Amino acid sequence: MEQIVRNVDNYRSSILLIYTGGTIGMRPDEKTGALVPFDFSGIYDEFPSLRRLNVDIDVHTMPKLIDSSNVKPSDWCAIAEVIRDNYERYDGFVILHGTDTMSYTASALSFMLENLAKPVIFTGSQIPIGVLRTDGRENLITAIEVAAARVDGRPVVPEVALLFHSRLCRGNRTRKSSAEELDAFSSPNYPPLAEVGVKITYNTAAIAHVEPSNEPLRIATMLSEGVAIIKLFPGISEHTLRAILSVEGLRGVVLETYGAGNAPTSGWFLQLMRETIQRGVLVLNVTQCDNGSVEMHLYETGQRLHSAGVVSAYDMTSEAAITKLMYVLGQNLPWEQSVELIQRPLRGEFTL
Ligand code: ASP
Repeated sequence: MEQIVRNVDNYRSSILLIYTGGTIGMRPDEKTGALVPFDFSGIYDEFPSLRRLNVDIDVHTMPKLIDSSNVKPSDWCAIAEVIRDNYERYDGFVILHGTDTMSYTASALSFMLENLAKPVIFTGSQIPIGVLRTDGRENLITAIEVAAARVDGRPVVPEVALLFHSRLCRGNRTRKSSAEELDAFSSPNYPPLAEVGVKITYNTAAIAHVEPSNEPLRIATMLSEGVAIIKLFPGISEHTLRAILSVEGLRGVVLETYGAGNAPTSGWFLQLMRETIQRGVLVLNVTQCDNGSVEMHLYETGQRLHSAGVVSAYDMTSEAAITKLMYVLGQNLPWEQSVELIQRPLRGEFTL
């Protein structure tokens, strides 16, 4: 049964807004009309209505504002460091990010922030904040409200989440699913953590339950970049696949398969998978379908993959799977331990 929290504590929260770039931070230049970055340090002058929230907001602008298509793991580390350095001082964090790769960053941060017990809420917009019809204003205000929400002295959403349009979703369950619609993100295999309407209605049964602990926040910044995503298609050749899989330094692959995790049963394909895995490359099976889970035991085409040593990613998105691989392989653990970590839900990123 879902439990819905409608009322939150009357407590004055302090929120750190971390601005990384993307459309949300753009406004048309008065003279040239070209889009230029907005200065969020003047946020109260621009949106005086924010003063009506029971929240103190500070702004941290990343040194180099980027279009999120340029995001690299080093940018994830820089954001994680800002959160770590300010963790004790604030009740929650809102990260303004370009929408194109926001689900990758939210997934990566969900793994990198170990012992997280405070809200880290990502948001962005499809229309620049300086444009009259922007969706950025609502997204920004709601993200701040969510990051600030507390009940019985505890944050309502103590995890990495993504707020967009009318939904708050677990960050590592999201993907950008529309290049045009204002409702641009989906969470194909996990229910929203909150629905945003006249009120913000939290689905507390779906939100991570974090027990109070004295464990300090730790950030994992060793991420392996020896990873790749390979999407199968009918006709993929041995030559192409072999070339990709023999790249030097490759340590992990997200294999996007058909349906419930199925792939060709041709001898060369299975042999190549076996050889790759025997070389110590971790191959993770993610479905190409928009929703649903990998179930390798259902068909012979999946069973063969399983016997070759391919590991199921269940209902993980490719965004979560590739960032989890980077995180797990970055720890340089023995093979069995890496496989064990990959197959264990660490931050609610898949359902068994
Ligand atoms: N290209 C932009 C970005 O991802 C798009 C956006 O923010 O919506 O940074």
